[in-house]
Amino acid sequence: MVLEGGLERGVVEEDWRTLLKDLITKPEQITEKFRIDIEPLKAVVSVYPMRVSRYYFNLIEEVGDPIWMQCIPSPLELKDPYGIEDPLDEEGDSPVPGLVHRYPDRVLMCVSTVCATYCRFCTRKRMVGRSPARLSMDEWAKQIEYIKGNPSIRDVLLSGGDPFMLPDETLDRILGKVRAIQHVEIVRIGSRMPCTLPQRITPKLCSILKKYHPLYVNVHFNHPREITEESERACGLLADAGIPLGNQSVLLKGVNDDPKVMKELLHKLLKIRVRPYYLFQMDLVKGASHFRTRVETGIKILESLIGYTSGLAIPRYVIDAPGGGGKIPIQPNYIVAFDKDKVILRNYEGNIYVYPQPPIEEEAIAYATPP
Ligand SMILES: *Cc1c(COP(=O)(O)O)cnc(C)c1O
Ligand code: SF4
Repeated sequence: MVLEGGLERGVVEEDWRTLLKDLITKPEQITEKFRIDIEPLKAVVSVYPMRVSRYYFNLIEEVGDPIWMQCIPSPLELKDPYGIEDPLDEEGDSPVPGLVHRYPDRVLMCVSTVCATYCRFCTRKRMVGRSPARLSMDEWAKQIEYIKGNPSIRDVLLSGGDPFMLPDETLDRILGKVRAIQHVEIVRIGSRMPCTLPQRITPKLCSILKKYHPLYVNVHFNHPREITEESERACGLLADAGIPLGNQSVLLKGVNDDPKVMKELLHKLLKIRVRPYYLFQMDLVKGASHFRTRVETGIKILESLIGYTSGLAIPRYVIDAPGGGGKIPIQPNYIVAFDKDKVILRNYEGNIYVYPQPPIEEEAIAYATPP
């Protein structure tokens, strides 16, 4: 392909735009590869749009497998008795459209409402693929103004939708504006494209991102089969640009709610230079309740990991509190008893250990003060 300047572009570098034109958006397209009854899916798609990149679609091996479940609509989406539209009440913490200010020192900036593949369990199912594809320049300007006016904001997280759906030039401009704000110390981007359309991660994108260090990227893989040569290449490019990579997974019934599957995913992530960051308990999203697991399942998975594998592989398991309380860490309990003098603990194998406490403040002062 030829640039305006007449330069040859690398195949990989240009490919992603072409790939984004070849999407599976109609149930009929599923039958090109799989024999299923698509009639019940038509109503689902009219409420919650379907979009699957050809790359991600090709990772499906059979009907109902963990890749299928994440991207192919299910009739259960329209029969959800529990879910709510905006389970985290993001709208309630949104001072300007698309910006969520929930924690004291950081904000989440939704810069896009589309993705390369729509996950059926998405927390922002209410908006992804349903609102205008991206915010207007005017809305971005309002978000930037808000951050400028709030010196307590030291961490800006670009999210969406998927920020990497924006053209390089637009991303460059937004990052430039955010970076120019004196009190913004770090910038983070959350993207699922290294998983769903890894061809999006190009040397050109990386050369833009690295201008804005310290910049962190959180990716989103949920199943070991999502880790391929292509996604390894994408994460390698980002890591080589000096970008620390974290992963945010969602605990999904029938996809990764199994200690063996989860451990394999976490190990594979470390091998592609991604540090597991969060494991999310499924939110109460309307149209996605069939993905929910019980919290005990998550705790058991963590118990199967802690002590048995590298601490580096273990994500923090969190529940994003319904109604907008923010992320709350959930841990297996390793404290058996606790008093003024000692803490009684169990280790990962169930053995009991005692940790003697130092004296409490007043006693400590009396002890340390010479007569
Ligand atoms: C998750 C989230 C953040 C970032 O949280 P960290 O725990 O710092 O990763 C910021 N704002 C909102 C609204 C969020 O949901
Ligand atoms: S990539 Fe993220 S924002 Fe997009 S549909 Fe999936 S979970 Fe939702």
